[in-house]
Amino acid sequence: MVVQLKDDAVVKRINAMVERIDGMKAHDHYYYNQPVSELSGGSRVIVKGREMGMYASYSYLGLIGHPRINKAAKDAIDKYGTGTHGVRTLAGTLEVHNELEETIANFRNTEGAITYSSGYVTNLTVISTLMGRDDYVISDKLNHASIVDGCLMSGSKFVRFRHNDMDHLEQRLQQAPSDVAKLVVADAVFSMDGDVIDFPRLVELSKKYGAWLMIDEAHSLGVLGETGCGIEEHFDMPGTVDIKMGTLSKTIPSVGGYVAGSEDMMTYLRHTSRAYIFSAALPPAQAAAANEAFKIIQDEPWRVEKLRANADQFINGLKNYGFDTLQTETAIVPVVCGKDEVAYELTRQAQQKDVFVLPVVSPAVPEKLARLRATVTAAHETEDIDYAMSVIAEAGKAMGVLN
Ligand SMILES: *Cc1c(COP(=O)(O)O)cnc(C)c1O
Repeated sequence: MVVQLKDDAVVKRINAMVERIDGMKAHDHYYYNQPVSELSGGSRVIVKGREMGMYASYSYLGLIGHPRINKAAKDAIDKYGTGTHGVRTLAGTLEVHNELEETIANFRNTEGAITYSSGYVTNLTVISTLMGRDDYVISDKLNHASIVDGCLMSGSKFVRFRHNDMDHLEQRLQQAPSDVAKLVVADAVFSMDGDVIDFPRLVELSKKYGAWLMIDEAHSLGVLGETGCGIEEHFDMPGTVDIKMGTLSKTIPSVGGYVAGSEDMMTYLRHTSRAYIFSAALPPAQAAAANEAFKIIQDEPWRVEKLRANADQFINGLKNYGFDTLQTETAIVPVVCGKDEVAYELTRQAQQKDVFVLPVVSPAVPEKLARLRATVTAAHETEDIDYAMSVIAEAGKAMGVLN
C-alpha cells in the first residue's frame, strides 16, 4: 500500500491553529481547557491545586452543588440508572422528562416545552425545523453561534441586522417579501457584552411585520425579571415571545436545552425536529436536577435579588476604577483591554492573585476589543467582589489599561 502524504487546505488550517496555540503556550498565555479539580459552592474553584475566586462561571444564582439538586440527581440515578438508551420518541421518554417539560412550561408561562440534549443543539434543530428554504430568518449580528448555525442550516434567506439596532431591523423586515414566513431571533442578554436587547421595539416590529419572535434566554433566566423569569418579566410584557429558548447548563446547573411555546408547536417539534427523533434523551439525573433547580429559583427568591446587587456592585465598581465595561447591565461584565496580548497578561496577573477570570479575544469578539469576560453570581459576597475588582484594577494599571 502506498501511503499518500497529504498537503492540502485541511493540513494548512490545522497547522496554522497549532502554531497559534503553541505560541500562546510559549508565552505562558494559554488559559483555555484548564481542568478544575473542585467547584466549591460556585464562588470558588480549585485549579492546579490553587483555590481562587470564580469569576468566569455561568452559575448565576449559585445553584451548583445545591443539596436539593444533588439529592434529586442521586434519587433519579437510584430509580432509573444513568442512561436512557433510546430517543424520546421510542423508548427514551421517562416520567422525569415529562415532569421537567411541565415545570419549564409553568416557569416560562407557556402551554408546553420540549427539551434537547444541549442548548446548542436546541437552536440548531428548532430554527432549522421551523424555517425552510423560501423563508427569512433575521438575526442580530451578535447572536450566539448556535443561532447562526441554526439559521444557516435552515437553508432560509439569512439576514442580519446591526447589533441591537431596531431601525436596521425594520429595514430588514421591509426588504423581505410580505408573503414569506419570517423569524426574528435574538439573545435576550448578549453573551460577550452582557447588554440587553431592546425588547419593546423588537416585539413591536415583529408584530407589525407578522414575523415569529424567538428569544434565547441562556444568560437572562434567573438574571432578568423580579423573580428571574427572564425578559418578558423584565419589561413587564408577558406572552409576547413565540419561541422561548433556554439552556439547562447555566443558571440551571445541569445540561440540556429547551424551547417553550404553544402546545401545537411542541407537537410539531416532537414529530419533526431531528435532534429529538434521532438523538438520545437527556440522562435521568440531569433531567431531575434541572427540574429541581427551577423549583428552587421560585422557593429562594433572595438569589435573584442578591445577583442583582452583586452585578450592580461589580459593574459600578469597575466603572469607578475607570474600566470600559461596554453596555452591560447584567452578570456578564466585559472588561475591555484592547489588544489580545493585554487581555492575556491581565488574566495572568489576576489569576496570580487568585482571581479566576478568562480572556476573550478575536475572532470571538472584534479586534481591539479583547477583554476579560468576567461574571458574578449570587454566590459571591461583597468583600469577595471588592477584592476581585482591586486585583483587576491593579493589573489594569500595570498594563496601562487604566491611567
Ligand atoms: C451557552 C449558550 C447556548 C448553548 O447552550 P448549551 O446548553 O451550553 O449548549 C446557546 N445560546 C446562548 C446565547 C448561549 O450563551
